[in-house]
Amino acid sequence: MHYTGTIWRPPYEASSLLLEVTTGCTHHKCKFCTLYDDLPYKFRMSPLNDIESDLQEAQLWSTNPIAMLTARLQGLSRPERIQRAFLTGANPFVLKYERLLTIAGLIQQYVPSVKTIGCFARITDIALKSDEALASLRQAGYDGLTIGIETGDDEALQLMNKGYAAADIVKQCQRLDRAGIHYSLFYLAGISGAGRGEAGAKATADVCNQLHPTRIGVNMLTIYPESALYQEIQRGIWKEESEIEKYQEIRTLLENLKIRTQFAALGASNAFPFQGSLPEDKETLNTALTKIIETGKEHDLREYRIHLRHL
Ligand code: SF4
Repeated sequence: MHYTGTIWRPPYEASSLLLEVTTGCTHHKCKFCTLYDDLPYKFRMSPLNDIESDLQEAQLWSTNPIAMLTARLQGLSRPERIQRAFLTGANPFVLKYERLLTIAGLIQQYVPSVKTIGCFARITDIALKSDEALASLRQAGYDGLTIGIETGDDEALQLMNKGYAAADIVKQCQRLDRAGIHYSLFYLAGISGAGRGEAGAKATADVCNQLHPTRIGVNMLTIYPESALYQEIQRGIWKEESEIEKYQEIRTLLENLKIRTQFAALGASNAFPFQGSLPEDKETLNTALTKIIETGKEHDLREYRIHLRHL
């Protein structure tokens, strides 16, 4: 398989076929982000030949008689056929509609057991597609996008160079809702800065309450020295929230969500992983967050963040 640099995927895509169709990020400007800094370029589309040869390899695994025999000899269950593909890169959904259809066609040709195709997407990638194109991509299998909106706080979105505003999130995700394309949203606790976290959380809840995300995944801001944001902190331009403040912010988001969705914090940036369904588990999650806020030690939580060498 062709894999270039660090491959990022959401925790819930662990059993998906990871297919490299892009590398890097077309935007590459968010002040806090260092995710694709290990690449020698900003963004690259994979050649179709590479995608096709990776699919041929995947086809071999999913029908490989040796894998079946090994599983039987070891008393393991029969290897599952691949049900889902996850296209790698920061925003493969930026690819032109025609290219996304070509990729879906290749996946069908070589691994016909794949039922749905997911990937990371930016809000601006959705804006590039017509309603007809979105509906047709859904038909071709695209479903379950993951969108790092980070926040619904316009001031923070602008300051961090996200390249869109809260109103764009609502508009583009509502278009996905109409096209029948499901999506998960990633929220970044801490992005609004010291003293503004709870306002940012309320603004984000306002945005999410107008949408139908499958899940809202929480990540916590972890600033590395290579980031532009780190430099701003050093110059005294921006102040980071305390760790406890980040948990207060997450609790505020939870309290203000009125929609049916999954609420989860599973990535490495979260010292305390949690997940639940809303509204059923709201009280349990709230109690767990309150316990962290009341008994958590800022110093210990900070130590966790400082020693987090990789997200
Ligand atoms: S869009 Fe995502 S990957 Fe690209 S710079 Fe922003 S946070 Fe990083």
